[in-house]
Amino acid sequence: MRLSQLSTKTQKQTSDSDVSRNAQFLTRAGYIGRLMAGVYSFLPLGMRVLNNIENIIRDEMNGIGGQEILMPALQPKDIWEKTGRWDKVDILFKLKGAGNRDLALGPTHEEVVTPLMAGFIQSYRDLPKAVYQIQTKFRNEARAKSGLLRGREFRMKDLYSFHNGQDDLDAFYEEATAAYHRIFQRCGLGDITLLTYASGGIFSKYSHEFQTVTPYGEDVIYRVPETDIAINKEIIDDREVLAELIPGYKPGDEKKLEEVKAIEVGNIFKLGTRFAASFNAGFTDADGSQKFPVMGCYGIGPSRVMGAIAECLSDDNGLVWPEQIAPYHIHLVSLVNDAADLEKCENIYQQLCDTGVSVLYDDRDARAGEKLADADLIGLPHRIILGKKTLADNCFEWKKRTESDSHILPLEQIGDIAPARSTK
Ligand code: ATP
Ligand code: MG
Repeated sequence: MRLSQLSTKTQKQTSDSDVSRNAQFLTRAGYIGRLMAGVYSFLPLGMRVLNNIENIIRDEMNGIGGQEILMPALQPKDIWEKTGRWDKVDILFKLKGAGNRDLALGPTHEEVVTPLMAGFIQSYRDLPKAVYQIQTKFRNEARAKSGLLRGREFRMKDLYSFHNGQDDLDAFYEEATAAYHRIFQRCGLGDITLLTYASGGIFSKYSHEFQTVTPYGEDVIYRVPETDIAINKEIIDDREVLAELIPGYKPGDEKKLEEVKAIEVGNIFKLGTRFAASFNAGFTDADGSQKFPVMGCYGIGPSRVMGAIAECLSDDNGLVWPEQIAPYHIHLVSLVNDAADLEKCENIYQQLCDTGVSVLYDDRDARAGEKLADADLIGLPHRIILGKKTLADNCFEWKKRTESDSHILPLEQIGDIAPARSTK
């Protein structure tokens, strides 16, 4: 992709009144555009990042046997009344449809998926099942001042699993937990994302959050030393819980836990039979008895993950995308003026594209300082500079976004910098 042809431009300042780091950088670099608080458009660069994140999630969900579906965002009131949540869920967007019909915009999909899948679960032979979607969710959040971290309209992957009995759910839940760890690893957040124990509700002792540690986080968690787990603030006074989670626990040890701020990027939960019971969605077990399937739900917010990466991994000069998430791998910058050199740059760009490396080519007629500042702001993993002298020597200058030193390498090695991927 040529920067001269990209539909967006970088901006020195943004009119976005949201001061969060992710909103500022993502807006200035042209990844997202704000419509109102907590509601953003995804622009070409942002769309590529979001797709990369969603494809990693899709891959991992398929890997544990999840089957992708797409459910409606527009939902009738009666399903929300069946579960008693029409008046309880305070962030539910309610609206009137034709004929004055009460409708909601889905903030989550238990009310849709339970009766939907019940239609296919008559016998124990029909279990287990796991379906997921990656979809736009709506929540009337009171505070939406954190860019992509807290949207009123945002992307969510939600997987729902149905099991014959608790043991089967427990085994699948373990697999889902491992898949979540892999997702955050692949998104570049693995080292700073902790499995966090939170309260579980009626059907299990704990639910689990995946919390990305950063001073900019909204949540407070307590990290257990020498482990990669943490405990959510709301359960931190429970002695029994502490004894279970802190190796060799003695009363008073809780004071040694490190209090850190974090962003909740994922949340998994054992739902038990409550939703199946609300819809009277039973099945016949092997012994002929009627039972309700035991359910689990597994949420993750791809747009929040994108915001978390922008928030946590950026530096003072701009965004820093991990390789697997970056919209393009190489930021190719030409710093030459005469026709012969420009043609060399053009050939190098074409050559890279032909080998399948994804390249953003700064072919603009702009000052060197502006081009380099934009490369930092946009945050691709590799920057290649083609200057008059290096080209004359048949070389190029390469620098990683995460490092300060650059290297001069012979042009034959240019194809080895980044892995070949699709698209121009
Ligand atoms: P929070 O506690 O931050 O409000 P939640 O516990 O209500 O989130 P869940 O219902 O568990 O969130 O949603 C699953 C995932 O969806 C979350 O882990 C998060 O990644 C994402 N998510 C939830 N709310 C938002 C939002 N307003 N904007 C962006 N992503 C969100
Ligand atoms: Mg949560």
